Amino acid sequence: MSQKQAISKSFSLIVLLIFLVFAVCGCASQKRPTHLADYDVIIIGAGMGGLSAAAHLAVKGQKVLVFEKHFIVGGSTTKFKRGDFTFDVALHAMAGGGPGKMDRGLFQLLKATGVDKKVELYEVPHFYRAVFPGVDITLPPNWEGFKAELKKQWPQESQSIDKFHVLCEDLFGDLMELRDLFRYGRAHATLTRVMVPLRQRTFFKWKDRTVQDLMDHCFNDEDLKAVVSQLWVFYGAPIETQSALIFMAATESYLSDGAWHVKGTSQALADGYAERIRELGGEVKTRTLVTKIIIENGVATGVVTADGKRYSARYIVANTDPYQLAYTLIGKEHMPAAYIEKLESMRPANSLFGVYLGLSVDLKERGYEDSEIFYNTYRDSRKNYDAMMKGDFANGAVAITIYTNLGDPVYAPPGKSVVKLDAYSEIAVWPKDREAYRKLKDQKVDELIALAANVIPELKDPKNFIIKEGYTPKTIENYTKNKGGVVYGFELSPDQWEKMPNTTPVSNVFIASNWTQAWHGVGSCQINGWRAARLILDREGIE
Ligand SMILES: Cc1cc2nc3c(=O)[nH]c(=O)nc-3n(C[C@H](O)[C@H](O)[C@H](O)COP(=O)(O)OP(=O)(O)OC[C@H]3O[C@@H](n4cnc5c(N)ncnc54)[C@H](O)[C@@H]3O)c2cc1C
Repeated sequence: MSQKQAISKSFSLIVLLIFLVFAVCGCASQKRPTHLADYDVIIIGAGMGGLSAAAHLAVKGQKVLVFEKHFIVGGSTTKFKRGDFTFDVALHAMAGGGPGKMDRGLFQLLKATGVDKKVELYEVPHFYRAVFPGVDITLPPNWEGFKAELKKQWPQESQSIDKFHVLCEDLFGDLMELRDLFRYGRAHATLTRVMVPLRQRTFFKWKDRTVQDLMDHCFNDEDLKAVVSQLWVFYGAPIETQSALIFMAATESYLSDGAWHVKGTSQALADGYAERIRELGGEVKTRTLVTKIIIENGVATGVVTADGKRYSARYIVANTDPYQLAYTLIGKEHMPAAYIEKLESMRPANSLFGVYLGLSVDLKERGYEDSEIFYNTYRDSRKNYDAMMKGDFANGAVAITIYTNLGDPVYAPPGKSVVKLDAYSEIAVWPKDREAYRKLKDQKVDELIALAANVIPELKDPKNFIIKEGYTPKTIENYTKNKGGVVYGFELSPDQWEKMPNTTPVSNVFIASNWTQAWHGVGSCQINGWRAARLILDREGIE
């Protein structure tokens, strides 16, 4: 062996040794809390993130207590009734897979908790219909049909359509390889990150790019770009500011693993979780607002509820936004300035405005087959976005969900229909004064209905309405306590696609919600819950 080779070998050994030492130190620094407590883990909030965390902990023998301020569990994934009609508050379609599909993502986690036995998931019949000037196209919820439909309209872009598919698949593969990165000790995580440019090349290439970059990279035709990127309305930003990553991952999940809904509304999934948690010996207390996390010597030792009661726990999981967590529940005095600075520097995404409609007509009988229609005033997502954010709902985009076309009889009796309209909005548009707010809401409800009537003319006739009820960012803020009624957590732009970690500066407090790293959405929030649970279980040495 030459001297040069010997030096190089010794250098490699030293680097390896340093990594091993760091790896050991990294794991050792994750201390278990030593205080005694009545519960292993208290979970604040029974949205999808909180419920999932509780179920994953309970199934591994942890004693859990979930607090939910509302009288039902679910957060955004709840239902409500008006007369004959049942409304799903939020869910259009859930990504993450379901029975009979590839075992990756969310469904694997449902099976791990046994919640899969409590719910019936079904695939939505159509993916979406996109309508904008000069284009009206319906796309099926699988790659084969999706690509065939696009190729029929844009045969000259046939290869580009295949290229887009391959990119989405590759990106998802890379994400699956990185899915445990959040659990790694410092050296292992550093090494994995260093290797990303070589091993997860699609992820590396697209992590700092936008959906607009992706569309420009794949396609030439502007109409085709607008059709393929239509689901920007599900992820919280117009395409030139939206991260390509979430778009590619969600598209691959929807088209390979299915776009799913829940029999009996998304409330059935939330209830299924609560039932399973109780079966496993956990407790779920509704109508209980948590007002404080008790911090002693830098460690969380329990919580205080609005009625003044104190409950002790070894760990806390917050299914809240990080603002409530840092400023109200923990208190700024216990948070390092750097964390607060980071929080303040991040941009929350937008909220939503919409209308729940119970109709006296059967839309299916009238020839409407779709369950999800996007009507866009403009082809350009930025123009639609800006109109909505100004409160000009007559000239934006609207997502029209015909729930009664999903094939579940829960929504309305025969001969009637349930429709929901959703648009982007921000809380600043909505006045504080109650009377002014009510007036504006009534006016905007009619504006949004008029926009949707461009594709469903039955919505022009007031005689067809039995129920007409609007919601605004204020409604969402009121029900979920998410700042500004934001339903997407931090805006998913290339500079903040990593959102906030599931860990917090208080070592035994974790966060699992829209705002954390596995992104937002009904499926992703359950993954956030699993991640928070997993970090606690790792700390406890439980596989
Ligand atoms: C209209 C609408 C349509 C949507 N459509 C879709 C869709 O089609 N597909 C999709 O995947 N996603 C959709 N989403 C987004 C999805 O619903 C959310 O991303 C997800 O449900 C958020 O879950 P979460 O875990 O962050 O908790 P949240 O749903 O935000 O729930 C948090 C819970 O914590 C409780 N809580 C907060 N603070 C406290 C406290 N101090 N004490 C006690 N309890 C507390 C709240 O009451 C609430 O129940 C939609 C959302 C909305 C509003």
